[in-house]
Amino acid sequence: QPAWVVDPVAPGSLERQVPDTARTLVDVLSWHAHYQPGHTHVRLLGEDDRPEDISYGDLQREAQGVAAGLQKGGLRTGQTVALMLPTGRDFLRGFFGILLAGGIPVPIYPPLRLSQVEDHLRRQAGILCNAEARVLITVAEAKFLAQLLRSQVPSLVRIASVAELGGEGQDCMTPTRQPEDIAFLQYTSGSTGQPKGVMVSHANLLANLRAMGTTLQVEPRDVFVSWLPMYHDMGLIGAWLGSLYYGFSLVLMSPLAFLARPGRWLWAIHRFRGTLSAAPNFAYELCLGKISDAELEGLDLSSWRLAFNGAEPVSPNTLQRFAERFARYGLDPRALSPVYGLAEGTLGVAFPPLGRGPLIDRVQREAFQARGQAIPAEADDGATLSFVSCGRPLPGHQVRIVDGNGIELPERREGRLQFSGPSTSAGYYRAPEETRRVLRDGWMDSLDLAYMTAGELYISGRAKDLIIRAGRNIYPYDVEAAIGSLPGLRKGCIAVFGSPDPATGTDRLVVMAESAEKDKSTRQGLRQAINRVVVDITGVPPDDIVLAPPRSVLKTSSGKIRRAACRELYQRDEVGRPGLAPWRQVLRL
Ligand code: ATP
Repeated sequence: QPAWVVDPVAPGSLERQVPDTARTLVDVLSWHAHYQPGHTHVRLLGEDDRPEDISYGDLQREAQGVAAGLQKGGLRTGQTVALMLPTGRDFLRGFFGILLAGGIPVPIYPPLRLSQVEDHLRRQAGILCNAEARVLITVAEAKFLAQLLRSQVPSLVRIASVAELGGEGQDCMTPTRQPEDIAFLQYTSGSTGQPKGVMVSHANLLANLRAMGTTLQVEPRDVFVSWLPMYHDMGLIGAWLGSLYYGFSLVLMSPLAFLARPGRWLWAIHRFRGTLSAAPNFAYELCLGKISDAELEGLDLSSWRLAFNGAEPVSPNTLQRFAERFARYGLDPRALSPVYGLAEGTLGVAFPPLGRGPLIDRVQREAFQARGQAIPAEADDGATLSFVSCGRPLPGHQVRIVDGNGIELPERREGRLQFSGPSTSAGYYRAPEETRRVLRDGWMDSLDLAYMTAGELYISGRAKDLIIRAGRNIYPYDVEAAIGSLPGLRKGCIAVFGSPDPATGTDRLVVMAESAEKDKSTRQGLRQAINRVVVDITGVPPDDIVLAPPRSVLKTSSGKIRRAACRELYQRDEVGRPGLAPWRQVLRL
């Protein structure tokens, strides 16, 4: 009997059981594979939308094959193995194969277009060098790229596919890992700088899964429907490892399937009676803009009890329009759940109370922008800002808002968001300087700005995105969204940032907007329209507007705008060079 089996589960009582005794992720899989080997764990949706079911027993067995192959190739305990694979069975068995072999998985995203290979390679090579990856697991189609990477990454001794590894060995010897050992490295997508490898320990991961599961009251009969990429924390932990731990099934489809036809997501929820699903704000927008009424005929979303919206700023306007449009298809507006989290906190940091629905705070714009005070606005106040509550810190975890000197601020004052608790990572892999900068006395600085009131957390923006223009604090998000809805501009392809002006010591407010318009007078009209929108929202006109060709605005692999990188392009006068692809472009192999 393995050591982690404390109380044999009585027949019939498994319904309420989770691997409470697990100390590592490997224990979690072993627990389920032991008690319910034939139970469906993942339902993988292929091109034809037909599910391919993977049980706990399948996953354990297949991962053992991969682990044996890795060990046979000389992998030693604690060494890192990069996984560059699209969503699919190979990713799942590859990830656990590495763990069972005693290695540390490092999920990275696959490249797409040849035109972006150079950028992609530079970025991935940076990650692999930092991670000191020994092996790179990928698919045959990507091997030529992997070879290019190999020439830049001295630690890389082997490139293999899952099939090759799985076919090599039979038995693996899984070394014992401790809760404080690293379970995997989660490289942040780098919207504010170079990607950094967050060290997620087994203890961090289990603490976060347990805190989230308790808050959300998940049950084995829940069904999670996900198209989120597996190399991103919300897809990897929130969707996959959450369902693994709690024993509910995960209906998994590729991000490309969703991006090609967003309606597939909603129809998968309908078909499998999905109860949980998560996505960044932009995905809810895609559903609003890209699905016709005809495609929705007969859709029933009444099973959906929690629709998480997080990983990027949550728009009150998106929430409202999504609730209104989909109410007719059975969506309960209280299912909409804005959540806050980040890799440094494993995943979840704050969640709203169950069944409450979104809570929006309208505050006076002037007091907020000039003094960081979130004063509730009167109903007839025209100059307001709206923020969405992300709820309360997870049980057993703490959040505080501090000023520049680290002094805690009172309610309704905007400052740096810090958090602590058992899900807080020990920092970045092989980057002690970066770690010291954010982690002090157990408190992790999120680099996000926020305020709290009545125990609830309102994210106002990222510290690095904040534009301080003549003493006013301006955030890019609302401005970008409003500009993006002007006809003639490319929605989601707008960057608003501050460019320091040494002459005045303040930021210049710059708008970089993609447009395919060629006509001179149309372009002039666009500039005027942008000017009006910026004045409307911020009270001041922009200092510069750059109309750039499509694909100029730089984005991370998860589609976030890289404002700091855009600012660099702008300052070097290099706007217009083809940029890094957003995730919808990056994912295809
Ligand atoms: P990097 O930290 O390098 O920029 P990243 O953005 O990909 O990479 P993640 O851990 O994936 O890092 O994302 C976490 C960030 O996403 C948070 O720090 C925050 O800025 C943003 N975020 C997450 N949830 C919300 C939310 N509800 N509202 C606003 N922003 C959010």
